[in-house]
Amino acid sequence: MSHLAAAFLNKRLGLIIMPTEKCNYRCVYCYEDFEQGRMADSVSDGIVRLVASRAPLLDQLTISWFGGEPLLAMAVIEKIMQAANDSAAEHAIRLHSGATTNGHLLTLPRLRRLCALGVSQYQITIDGPADVHNARRRQAKGAGDLATILANLHAACASDLLFAITLRIHLDEISVPRFDDLLAELGTIVQDPRVSFAFEMLGNYGRALPDTIRPMSRGRFQDAARMLEDRLAGLGKAASGADADEEHVCYAATPNSFVIRADGAVQMCTVALNAAHNAVGRIGSDGVIRLNERYAQWLSGWHMDDRAALQCPAKAIVAMQAAAKQPRATALPHAIERIVA
Ligand code: SF4
Repeated sequence: MSHLAAAFLNKRLGLIIMPTEKCNYRCVYCYEDFEQGRMADSVSDGIVRLVASRAPLLDQLTISWFGGEPLLAMAVIEKIMQAANDSAAEHAIRLHSGATTNGHLLTLPRLRRLCALGVSQYQITIDGPADVHNARRRQAKGAGDLATILANLHAACASDLLFAITLRIHLDEISVPRFDDLLAELGTIVQDPRVSFAFEMLGNYGRALPDTIRPMSRGRFQDAARMLEDRLAGLGKAASGADADEEHVCYAATPNSFVIRADGAVQMCTVALNAAHNAVGRIGSDGVIRLNERYAQWLSGWHMDDRAALQCPAKAIVAMQAAAKQPRATALPHAIERIVA
């Protein structure tokens, strides 16, 4: 199915849900402000009602858990996933779910419970071997703790659970030469077919970087990522990250994809969290997403046939604002008209 058809079809809904914006970590580059706590019941009730009202027309529902650290709010995850599973069973919907977690709380009992609810795909970021990782991905109460994350990963790999964990490896000039040290610390985790690797360029996500991080240029990152991909291929392991997918369309440019924050604010993008142009609406406890006029600009890449704006609509909006251009109004797609009050 083409990207265009898939994006505008009424049959798909993607929700990126932040059940809490608190975090047990304070990574040195994190752009979040951690101000909002656990999602209010009125917001989770609204999400349950949204899913129930959309379910009769859906054939695919994707729920991605994000934060803060989403596993700090297991009760919210359980409530919404129970309801999503009920709707999926009733209407024969393919339900996909995953979580972006720092991995600290992903103990085997929690992973077992989450897998039973259909939360089976995980992304865990690792910055390098323990000395590098712990200095950057610090806990709120002090130093980082890669040992706990690795213990959780070993327990997961020793289980027969059906999951897919992507280890997102942050690369900079310091972590690249230490990659073999990281592989040694990961040990048998590397060989597990349920574990894969993705390389990401460590950069400024909205907060000035400390001197202990030495960012790479895009070209240097690609060279390093290709080298490490080859290193993993030699171990029989696939990895990704070096080469951008030209056809990639960001979820934030997709009309049926929404980020729902802990307070019920609806946004399009998880990165520019507090940017005014990202505040596109709110979800009510009645399950209705009420969108405002800012929503249309996230979709401008489609009608302007602008590939860069499809790959990163946030950058395109900032560029348009800087150029003082107003994007043309976009008619709301059919899938959205149903949920706009
Ligand atoms: S684990 Fe994620 S949300 Fe928490 S501090 Fe680190 S980057 Fe921020």
